[in-house]
Amino acid sequence: MGADKGQMAEVVGFTAPYLRKDRPIHLLGIGGISDIFMGVRQGIDTFDCVHPTRIARHGGALVRGSERGHLQIRNSAYREDSNPLQEGCACHTCQTYSRAYIHHLFKAKEILGMQLITLHNIHFMNDLLADIRHGLKTKTLHEVEERWFLAD
Ligand SMILES: [Zn+2]
Repeated sequence: MGADKGQMAEVVGFTAPYLRKDRPIHLLGIGGISDIFMGVRQGIDTFDCVHPTRIARHGGALVRGSERGHLQIRNSAYREDSNPLQEGCACHTCQTYSRAYIHHLFKAKEILGMQLITLHNIHFMNDLLADIRHGLKTKTLHEVEERWFLAD
C-alpha cells in the first residue's frame, strides 16, 4: 500500500473515514511496530503479517529499542551471549533458552532454532497489541509507543 511508509499512512488516513465504524477494520500485511501504531491511530482494529514468523525462520528475533526492530541471532556477537532474546520477556523461549544456545541451533541448521524464535516473536506481537489496547483504554498510547521504541 503505497511506495513508502509515508504514502501508506496517507492512503490509510484517506480511506479509513469512509469505512463503517460498526464493523472491525482490518489492515492486511502490516507488521512493523511503527506501522501498527500508525494504523491504530487511524482506527484500524486488526492486522496480520508474515513478518514476525518470516524473520524468525531466518534468525530474526523481535526486540524493543533496536534500530531494525530485531536482532539477527546468527551474528557471531551472540555466540556466547547468555541473555534471553529479550530481557523481561515472559515467553517460553526467553524463560528457558539463551541467545548463545539459539545461535548454536541456527549454526547447526537445527529447526528448533526457528521454532524458538517464532514462539518469541508471536509472544512479542501479542505483548505489543495488549499494551496498545491498554494504552487506548487509559489514553496513554503515546507513552506506550515510546516504551516500545526504547531499549531496556
Ligand atoms: Zn521471548
